[in-house]
Amino acid sequence: MNDALMQKMKERINELRKLPGVGSKTIKDVLEENGISRRDFLKWSASMAAMLGLSSSFVPVVAEAAEVSDRLPVLWLHLAECTGCSESLLRTDTPSVDDLIFNYINLQYHDTIMAAAGWQAEENYEEALNKFKGRLILCVEGGVPTKDGGEYLTFGPHAETGLEKLKRTAEAAGAIIAVGTCSAFGGIQAAAPNPTGAVGIHKVLNKPVINVPGCPPSAKNIVGTILYVILFGALPAVDNFNRPKFAYGLRIHDLCERRGHFDAGEFVEEFGDTGAENGFCLYKVGCKGPYTFNNCSRERFNQHTSWPVQAGHGCIGCSEPDFWDAMKPYEKPLADNYLASIDADATADKIGITILTVAGVAIAAHAAISAMKNPKE
Ligand code: SF4
Ligand code: SF4
Repeated sequence: MNDALMQKMKERINELRKLPGVGSKTIKDVLEENGISRRDFLKWSASMAAMLGLSSSFVPVVAEAAEVSDRLPVLWLHLAECTGCSESLLRTDTPSVDDLIFNYINLQYHDTIMAAAGWQAEENYEEALNKFKGRLILCVEGGVPTKDGGEYLTFGPHAETGLEKLKRTAEAAGAIIAVGTCSAFGGIQAAAPNPTGAVGIHKVLNKPVINVPGCPPSAKNIVGTILYVILFGALPAVDNFNRPKFAYGLRIHDLCERRGHFDAGEFVEEFGDTGAENGFCLYKVGCKGPYTFNNCSRERFNQHTSWPVQAGHGCIGCSEPDFWDAMKPYEKPLADNYLASIDADATADKIGITILTVAGVAIAAHAAISAMKNPKE
């Protein structure tokens, strides 16, 4: 099985190698310029292989896939959003390999960073669309306004709506990736009262969309999804919300370093208290880790240095649908919304006061998490 898979990947990479790359620089040059050694690159490839669920024998193939990541053209479309996803990837001054790979992909069109504007930008766009029809990867950042024919978002001198442009581009795409919670689920634009009728892009397309939510999503999850498409020539297995299982298969809570304190009933009662100083669990100051599927607690951010919970604030559930509405209040346990029915907060309070046994707490945790929609197995 492994041999057959390996063979398939190698054939695919060889095919991709025959296609033109993005320019004169190889990934080796790019890494060297940024002081990243071959050894570091292979270490990164090993962690990426593990994240994708591949054994260590696949590490060299993953490295090769990264090396040909400039062969598949990417069109990056901005719809209704804040550009935070692009900013977080592009504005780093100590680039990780993920950031560098992202800079190295064959980005044919990206509103924020391209030099062209106006008519010239439109021309470039149409050219890329025609030239790479069927094999381009479409990455979309932002939700799509649908109310009144989508007129709340228009592009360029022809005032084409985002809705039209998205549909037209999706027709030419070989793979579609919704980057960030806005394009996956509508994001803040879709929060009540959602005046523009913004939705996640899968709602208006009739092709499969891979959702890579997060506000912003980690570079690892974006690059991992692109690498998966390069390696397999197919889309990854997904959960109920079309999120790749390799990245969104577990809850934040499952691998959190504060989990021992949750199980022991040790909670931060308010920011700055001795519980906070001692690194206790942040559930009672609003952590939504038990309800949130993502790999932040395992992969972290900024070259694996830290993540929000490590820095002292609870997870706000940014990779879940409608999190702006569903997960509020952000600094309090869920109380008055749909999750209240499971009595999770009352249980946590009780834990804080009486320090129940580990078994009792485990039951509380399971009560809380079993009420969530589980990803498809
Ligand atoms: S509730 Fe939050 S801080 Fe506490 S263990 Fe779970 S994820 Fe970690
Ligand atoms: S810890 Fe939670 S809120 Fe923070 S990035 Fe991860 S999923 Fe989003």
